[in-house]
Amino acid sequence: MTKGPTQMLLEKIESLSPEMQADELNSRFETGTPQDVLREAIELHKGSIAMVSSFGAESAVLLHMVAQIDPSTTVLLLETQMLFPETLAYQRQLTELLGLTDVRLISPDADELKKRDPYDALHLSNHDACCDLRKVEPLEDALSGFTAAITGRKRFQSGLRARMRFFEVERGGRLRINPLKDWAGKQLSNYMDKHDLPRHPLVAKGYPSIGCAPCTSKVGEGEDARAGRWRGTEKNECGIHLLNDGPAERIKPMPQLITREGFVADSWPSEGVSVDVADLSETDLAALNAPVAIRLDVTTDAVDLVEHFDKVAMMVVPFASSGDGRGFSIARQLRMLGYTGKIRAAGHILVDQFRAAMRVGIDEVEISSEQAARNPEEQWKAVPLLDSYQSHVSAA
Ligand code: SF4
Repeated sequence: MTKGPTQMLLEKIESLSPEMQADELNSRFETGTPQDVLREAIELHKGSIAMVSSFGAESAVLLHMVAQIDPSTTVLLLETQMLFPETLAYQRQLTELLGLTDVRLISPDADELKKRDPYDALHLSNHDACCDLRKVEPLEDALSGFTAAITGRKRFQSGLRARMRFFEVERGGRLRINPLKDWAGKQLSNYMDKHDLPRHPLVAKGYPSIGCAPCTSKVGEGEDARAGRWRGTEKNECGIHLLNDGPAERIKPMPQLITREGFVADSWPSEGVSVDVADLSETDLAALNAPVAIRLDVTTDAVDLVEHFDKVAMMVVPFASSGDGRGFSIARQLRMLGYTGKIRAAGHILVDQFRAAMRVGIDEVEISSEQAARNPEEQWKAVPLLDSYQSHVSAA
């Protein structure tokens, strides 16, 4: 019997190392379409390939392409237990519409959750630890039986992704396929229009990129589509696509807290609860029966928080960029209005701005480990500070 081209390719690449397999496939599909790449990958890894989908703003495109080729392809959604209800509803809608027959919701390990994040508050103090617990580790487990994984990653989404190729090899040998690597906003929305695919319901409400509810905020006009993800921090990847990269690409920033004393460990209690300021009107803080932190928005008016001051142990003030001074104003206003709890600044603060942060009453600044490496503790400790924000306020 004559062998077909796919069979011949399969036999050829099976004899190669994973890296050489990826090179071979990349040179073969250099000018291929996403559908060409997908078709070949699904054929080559039949029964052992899974697509990882967030069922987010642009996910319908790749899900539709996969369903057209083989609707029985396994699709994994990380159900972090922090997703918007709209995302779960959208997942059900698309699954039915596209006829997908093997969509699996992957949850974090219940025992690990109980141990490491019993109050669902880890995202408040340590995004990376939370993503590890709710995304990276469950996905690693879920993918352990697969030889190939399809992702919806795109080059335009972040600098880290600029080197992306159609086929990549994860540490451990699993093939990773990025069929949409070269696609950007217009192509994606054209494809959705052409195939009459429904949009995620939150897109029309100002969310062009959608992840877990506590770490996704609306995006303003002129902002990058991913500006609402982990807003106010340097984090821009949840880590699931970095986990198995080689050491040179593995970037896993750990947040670092800086106070007047220098770098310190996070003292926020594990039983603490965080509340987004947008949810405040619907939350009975007293009933939470735990230390409460409120994650503020850059547009927060501190006057609106006065009635809650006595119930809030920490205010987390975002600094979307080092050029955005609104965080300083919010912190100063909180102090002037009499807030005496802890104020944490999260996001982009430069060493030069540390004095100003302390002057307006911020107690601690959270930065990534990358910034901590660039600006070691000595630099922060060398900044001349007033005795306390009180001295500045009373002198003003
Ligand atoms: Fe936790 Fe936020 Fe990561 Fe979701 S995106 S796993 S809530 S840190």
